[in-house]
Amino acid sequence: MVQQISPCGELIIHPSVGRDVSGIAQSGAEFDRLLRKAAELRGHLCIGLPLGLKMASLGLRLLDMEDEKKRDNLVVFVENDRCAVDAIQVATGCSAGSRRLKVFEYGKSAASFVDGASRKGFRIVTKKDFMARAVELAVEDGIIAEDESVDEGSSLGRQVMMNAFLKMAPEQLFDVQEVTVESASTYLPGGGSVRGRCWSCGEEVMDGRGVVQQGKMMCRACAFGAYYRTTV
Ligand SMILES: [Zn+2]
Ligand SMILES: [Zn+2]
Repeated sequence: MVQQISPCGELIIHPSVGRDVSGIAQSGAEFDRLLRKAAELRGHLCIGLPLGLKMASLGLRLLDMEDEKKRDNLVVFVENDRCAVDAIQVATGCSAGSRRLKVFEYGKSAASFVDGASRKGFRIVTKKDFMARAVELAVEDGIIAEDESVDEGSSLGRQVMMNAFLKMAPEQLFDVQEVTVESASTYLPGGGSVRGRCWSCGEEVMDGRGVVQQGKMMCRACAFGAYYRTTV
């Protein structure tokens, strides 16, 4: 297995995605195909990709949306902006531009898979004791010795995690919460777009995303502070 650390800080296994990765074949041809596709989109294969694929497979199963034709109302809310997101995009067909993939930068290994029509769905979050389970599996698989300590950030730690993400069933990897999201109608594609102009900066705000304060509509940047500041 050829390994190196990617710019995202995670383990990369390459060059021939799939063939060099033990465990993928055991997870099925469809999983293998999606993993290759995700690696193509992301530009490398790291632990984020099987993680994202398994999150998505559980989310789709819970929503009974494994069949692509049933996904008209699927909206996915991801809680970080890392590699797993690209895998979720590949597995679900939801992308940011389709308005079906919403990125909340909470810095958490979690995503919600929601039926936009009912606003109900499932938040899937990596189990708190995931690393301990991954280490147990790595010992069983002979990747590490029984008493070997593993640092999550090390190359060995990443290998231990990759092994777990490839081999463990979604139910072993994740906890699931039933959730309801707010105002899914503004998240869903199609539908009329509510537009207005921010009274403060004068820029147009689409999709009903303005904030009304004292009877006047403001953009979120003016109301809450922006992620940028203008420079001279
Ligand atoms: Zn990565
Ligand atoms: Zn504004």
